[in-house]
This record gives sequence, C-alpha cells and structure tokens, in this order.
Amino acid sequence: MSIAVIGGGIAGLATAAGLAKAGAAVEVFERSSRDAVPGAGISLFPNSRAAMRTIGLLDGYEQLPHGPGAGIRTVMRRPDGKVALSFPAWARPQVRMFHRSALREFLLESCRGIPIHWDTAVTVDDDGDKLRRAVLTAADGQQSSWDLVVAADGLRSTTRRFLSLDPGLRYAGYTAWRGVTRGPADTGGTAGEDWGSRQRFGTVPLADGRVYWFAVATKDEGRTAAADGLASEKEAAEREFASWYPAARTLIAGTDEAEVLRHDLYDLARPLHAFHRGRVALAGDAAHAMTPDLGQGAGAGLEDAAALTALVRSALAGGAAGPDTDVVGLLGRYSRLRAPKAARQLRASRLMGRLAQRDRKAWRPGG
Ligand SMILES: Cc1cc2nc3c(=O)[nH]c(=O)nc-3n(C[C@H](O)[C@H](O)[C@H](O)COP(=O)(O)OP(=O)(O)OC[C@H]3O[C@@H](n4cnc5c(N)ncnc54)[C@H](O)[C@@H]3O)c2cc1C
Repeated sequence: MSIAVIGGGIAGLATAAGLAKAGAAVEVFERSSRDAVPGAGISLFPNSRAAMRTIGLLDGYEQLPHGPGAGIRTVMRRPDGKVALSFPAWARPQVRMFHRSALREFLLESCRGIPIHWDTAVTVDDDGDKLRRAVLTAADGQQSSWDLVVAADGLRSTTRRFLSLDPGLRYAGYTAWRGVTRGPADTGGTAGEDWGSRQRFGTVPLADGRVYWFAVATKDEGRTAAADGLASEKEAAEREFASWYPAARTLIAGTDEAEVLRHDLYDLARPLHAFHRGRVALAGDAAHAMTPDLGQGAGAGLEDAAALTALVRSALAGGAAGPDTDVVGLLGRYSRLRAPKAARQLRASRLMGRLAQRDRKAWRPGG
C-alpha cells in the first residue's frame, strides 16, 4: 500500500513511522526545511505512551531522556508564590516532559529509511474513491497518486478545507509565551501550572536541568510586542508577569530573547465528526486542533497515528495490499475510532481554558 503523509510535525512523523512498520510504502512531504528546529518543551501523558506502544516505538520512547516526572512535588501556586494546592502523590499525573527538539529527533530517527521530501509543500488535488487513487500536487506542479494520504498539516490545514470539513478556527481569547532557560534552573523541586487572574504560569523541568516555562494571558487577538512598542516578546512576557513570584520572573529572565515564542491560541470552532473523505485522512491538529489547556494536542495526534497504524497493519496482515484494499472503508473505521474521543478532548480543553483564565480579583497582586 502506498501512503503519502503531508506534514513532518509530531503527528505526521509518528504516523509515517507506524505505517512503515506496518508494512506500507510511506513517503513524507514537509514544506519546511530539515533544520527548522522546534523550540520550547512539551508534556506527554500516559495516552501518548500507550499510542507509542501501538505505533511500535515504545522502547525508544522509554529511553528518551525526560524531566523528573516521578517524585517531583507538584503544586499550584498563586501569583504571590503562596502554594494554593499541593497534589498528593496518587493524584500526580504520570506526565513526561521533553524538549520538543529531542522528541522531533527521536521521531526522525524512527522514520529512518522513509523518504522525507523537505521544502516540499503539497496539496491534495483529488481525494479519490473506492476505485481511484488520491492525487497530490507539489508546488513545482509534479503530481503523484497514492492508495492513501494522511494529511497532518497542522492547525491551518489546507487539506481540511479541500475536504470541505473545515469548521473554521476560534480564537480562545488568550495568548501564550513559551521558552526554555539557557541553562539549568531551580524550580524549588516543583512542576506545574500556577493560576492568577486571567494569567497563568507553567514550570516544566527538563532532563538536562533546564526549565521549560509557559506564560498565558488574556489578550486581544493579534497583539504583538512590536505592535505594543516593545523590543521583544521576552520583554512583553516580563512586563505581563512583572508582579509574579520571583522564581517565575527568574525563569523568563534566564531565557535568551530569541528563544521566547509567542502564539495566540486557537481551536477548531466545532469538533469534526469525520476525519476523512475518500482516501484522505486528517491527523493531528489538522483533525482536532484544541487549546493546550489539558496538554493533549500532541497526545491526540499520537493516538491518530496509533489508530491508523493498527488499521493498516491489520489490512496488510490480511493480505490486502495495493489498489484492491478497501481504503475508504478503512478510513471510515478510523473516523469512528478517533473522532468522538478527540471531540471530547477538544471540548474539555476549551472548558479548562475558560476556567483557568477567569478573572480572580482576590488573586490579583495586592488583591
Ligand atoms: C503553547 C502550546 C503549548 C502546547 N503544549 C502541549 C503539551 O504540553 N502537550 C501536548 O500534547 N500538546 C501541546 N500542544 C499542542 C501540540 O503542540 C500540537 O497539538 C502538536 O504539535 C501538533 O502536531 P501536528 O503534527 O499535528 O501539527 P504541526 O506541528 O503544526 O505540524 C504540521 C506540519 O505540516 C507542515 N505543513 C503544513 N502544510 C503543509 C503542506 N501543504 N505541505 C507540506 N507540509 C505542510 C508544517 O510545516 C508542519 O511542519 C501545545 C500547543 C501550544 C500552542
């Protein structure tokens, strides 16, 4: 079975690795270059681990250096640094915390042997049907046809639009700055997310002692440091969190200016009921872009990769390879397996975001 994967993010690379292990002939098309290294960190929960097992990457995943998840005292502080909530050991999420570049390198290594076409943007021209293969066109006009196409082309997926599945995006109402400290930093033995009034600050220790932090604030859509007359997004984050407890400010201060990222946060306006049309499947943010409030976006993408891997593996194990495979039926099963859970995650993330960003007058500095 020939399969094209559009997008070399977490969902695309994991899907490609799994499908190749299942016995398909896979190629990846990524519009960015090989050296576009993602910044900041990421937390993955036990559903990601389970997905890695199905994809066939569990051994490597277990060996991937991650932050000190087990044993760390997990608390929620208020902006003045007072501990508002301390989680007992049994209630601590079994989360693993990685630098995104380490996770990407692991996935790239897992895709060894799979052709990855860097700097190659492609679009779906024909999603195919039971008899006709799907067709992709590259920016240089070159066309190729495939038994199956997996579009993991992210939040602003053009494939989702082509398939007439796009409900549009909803601005969540808040923006996030993220960074990783330039050197090891002390978090006082804690990790977690601290809530203020329309502001949040998250602390995520990484394997090498550096700390990934994120800072979320309710803002109008599209605001930037430059538009606000500031020198950098680092300065914007420093100003926004100037009244927070010293350790939070130290983490921002200890991060190189160029390493501070800022993104307004969006999710799909409505969850999708189907993740496919014809022979084209959506995966990752393309299928279920959600706010990061439960740290589940990438995990859900890994679950897509696992579902596709399992379905293709069993189709190929049944001797059904090539044009006779009922790819359209297989993708119908994929949609039924994945869309309901992803919809619940999307709605729950949205709800958590609304709760977290509430105006808590008593928690304002001096409140
Ligand atoms: C502030 C923030 C914090 C987050 N924290 C977490 C967390 O802790 N845990 C978690 O699980 N998730 C988290 N997420 C969500 C997570 O980052 C995303 O869900 C995940 O990275 C999406 O991966 P993806 O592969 O679906 O999409 P992307 O990473 O967006 O990859 C899509 C790829 O497709 C490529 N592409 C697009 N169009 C084309 C085309 N036409 N042709 C070829 N290539 C194309 C792009 O260049 C890109 O490389 C967070 C998100 C944000 C914004």
